[in-house]
Amino acid sequence: MAVIDYGSGIYAIDLYEEGKPFRSSAYLIKDEQLALIETGSANSHEALLRGLGELDVKPEDLDHILLTHVHLDHSGGAGQMMQASPKAVMHAHPRAARHLVDPSRLISGTRAVYGEHADEMFGPLMPIEAERVVAEDDGSHLTIGRHTLSFYHTPGHAKHHMCIYDSVSTGLFSGDMVGIRYWPEYTGWDFVYGFPTTSPVDFDPDTMLASMDRMEQLQPSRIFHTHFGETKPAAVAFDFSRRGVQYIRALIDQLPENPDYPMIQQALSQIVIQDARRQGHPVKNADPLALDIMLDAQGILVYIQKKQAGKL
Ligand SMILES: [Zn+2]
Repeated sequence: MAVIDYGSGIYAIDLYEEGKPFRSSAYLIKDEQLALIETGSANSHEALLRGLGELDVKPEDLDHILLTHVHLDHSGGAGQMMQASPKAVMHAHPRAARHLVDPSRLISGTRAVYGEHADEMFGPLMPIEAERVVAEDDGSHLTIGRHTLSFYHTPGHAKHHMCIYDSVSTGLFSGDMVGIRYWPEYTGWDFVYGFPTTSPVDFDPDTMLASMDRMEQLQPSRIFHTHFGETKPAAVAFDFSRRGVQYIRALIDQLPENPDYPMIQQALSQIVIQDARRQGHPVKNADPLALDIMLDAQGILVYIQKKQAGKL
């Protein structure tokens, strides 16, 4: 199953990011015009085309491609998709737009986070013509028929992050702002688990909580996560994300002056294990989340270092 029908003309397409199902999704909205939200990385391009094919959509039919932010698991394949979709217009946060036109800083930034494996993990980054990229202001709208999509700048995970609210489903396409929904198919656990994502380099717990509060005031009925699929009611996702950020905030307060990376990584694993156990799931370890815990620990360390250097 590569496609999930969520009603209201909204479909999730499994991008098989990292070669794994139930990890990352793009969303297609079918209306008078066709809008795609997220493209995944360049390595997900074929999976995205297959998913669109299952929905009888050719890439050249797409009118709009929307990105929540320019971390490569969300947008690395945007250049390929824009080439395959010659009439499509790209919509992104103003801080993201310049990176889509000139991805050189994204490439160096990604190598700094993921090391030499960055290129094989995400594939090549292709630039997009500036005249095809629309920088969306906070509160701006895009109407594609019955659906009106509203853009909200939501820092806390990344400074170039926006959430997209859909008027028909009353769902919020939350990118990486209202946590990750870990499916049993991904973790091997026998329950759904939710936790925020604090990957580098812009994570800020207070800003993330403030953005979540703002998005909750829109009263969305459900959350469409990029990782992965839908959480309904939305309150469930706000709860697990907020709870996780609060644990992380408490951890930051408890850490010694100059914490090192392994210390944070280990503490974060413990937080996940205890959080799952408190919900009645006696997990033995946090290994299924190892990749995210690695990135999240880096993001927390970067935040602590910035804070200590007075750079926040
Ligand atoms: Zn992500």
